[in-house]
Amino acid sequence: MAGFTHLFIPGPTNIPEQVRQAMNLPMEDMRAASFPDLTLPLFEDIKKVFKNETGRAFIYPSSGTGAWEAAMTNVLSPGDRVLMSRFGQFSHLWVDMAERLGFEVDVIDCEWGTGVPLELYAERLKADKAHRIKAIFCTQNETATGVTSDVAGCRAILDDANHPALLFVDGVSSIGSIDFRQEEWGVDCAVSGSQKGFMLPAGLGFLSVSKKALVASRTATHRRCFFSFEDMIRANDAGYFPYTPATQLLRGLRASLDLIADEGLGNIFARHHRLAEGVRKAVDAWGLKLCAKAPKWHSDTVSAILVPEGIDSGDVVKHAYQKYQTSLGGGLNKVFGKVFRIGHLGWLNEVMVLASLSAAELALLDCGVKLAPGSGVGAAIAHFRRSQQPVIAEA
Ligand code: PLP
Repeated sequence: MAGFTHLFIPGPTNIPEQVRQAMNLPMEDMRAASFPDLTLPLFEDIKKVFKNETGRAFIYPSSGTGAWEAAMTNVLSPGDRVLMSRFGQFSHLWVDMAERLGFEVDVIDCEWGTGVPLELYAERLKADKAHRIKAIFCTQNETATGVTSDVAGCRAILDDANHPALLFVDGVSSIGSIDFRQEEWGVDCAVSGSQKGFMLPAGLGFLSVSKKALVASRTATHRRCFFSFEDMIRANDAGYFPYTPATQLLRGLRASLDLIADEGLGNIFARHHRLAEGVRKAVDAWGLKLCAKAPKWHSDTVSAILVPEGIDSGDVVKHAYQKYQTSLGGGLNKVFGKVFRIGHLGWLNEVMVLASLSAAELALLDCGVKLAPGSGVGAAIAHFRRSQQPVIAEA
C-alpha cells in the first residue's frame, strides 16, 4: 500500500530519525578500552530522567518485565509480604510475577479505570504495626486502561504511617513522558523500558534504585543470577557488563537521552499533556467515554476509549490497520473488545495526533459508531490552536 504506516500503540513508539541513525553502525567490541566512554555517561545520564540523584541505575538487555524481576529478586527475600493493587493488565502481571517468585502478596483488586487505592494502602500500612509489609507497589501508568496513579501520594502515606516499607514503581509507560521524581518522592525501585518514552526499540530494561534499595539488596536472599545487582555493579563500575550488552541499543540510548536533554523534561511533560488533552477533547466530541473513571486518573501517555454497546473494539482496531494502515491498541484482558487505545507518547506532535484521531474516526464510522465525521479531529484542532506549547527553561 502507498504512504506511511502509522504507529499509535502505547509502545513500541515512533523512533526519531537521529536515534535510528545512531543505531545504524557496525558491531563493536564491548570489551574495548574505549567502551566505557559510551557506558559510564549513560549510567549517569539515565538517572537524570528518573531524577535519581543518590542511587544508581541499571540497564539490562531485557524488556521492562526483566527490570521488574530484577527489582523484586535483588531487593526482597522469599516470603516477604508486599502490598499491591490490580486494576489493569500490567498491574495484574506484576502481581502474578510477585506470586510466582514466592512473595506473600496482599493484593487489592480495584475497579479497572481507577488506580492505586491510597486510602486502602494507608489503612493497611497503619494496621501493620509489626512492619511485616516490606514493599508497596504502584503502577504509575496502567497502559491497559489509560490510568495514572499518584506516586507522590504513595510516599505521603508511607511517611504518614511512619512505615519503613520500600516503594516500587512501574514507570514503563510514564517515565520520560510524565512527571516522575525518584529522589523527591522517595521511590526505591523505579522500572522502565526502552520502547516507550525513551523512543527506542524494545530490548533495554531500566531499573533505577535508591541507596536504601541498594542496602536492602545486600541482605535480601531471593535467588538471582542474570539480574544480580552485585554482578552488574562490579562490571558497570568499570564501564562494562557481566554479559554481552546490546551495543546498538546503547548507541541509540545515547541519542535518545541527548534528545530528551535538549527538549527538557518539563517541556516534554507539557507536550504530552497538551497532546493528551487534544485526544480527550476528541473523545468528548465523539460522545464516547474514556475507560479512566475520573479526570484524576487521566493518563497523558495513553487513552483507552470505550466503544458503544454492540460494537467490538477489536473490529475497530483491525479495520484501522487493514484499511487505513494505522495501528491503534486493542483491549486487554477484562476490557478486551470494550476499549481501543491511542498511544500518545514519545516522539510525537500535533499532526501525528490528528492522524491517529482521523484513523480512529474513519474506523469507528466504518464499524457503525454514530458520530459526526470530523467532530473529534475538529475538537482536537480547536484545542491545539487555543493552547500554546509553553516552553519551560530547564534548571
Ligand atoms: N508495565 C507497563 C505499565 C507496561 O505498559 C508494560 C508493557 O507495555 C510492561 C510493564 C511490560 O513491559 P515489557 O513489555 O517491556 O516487558
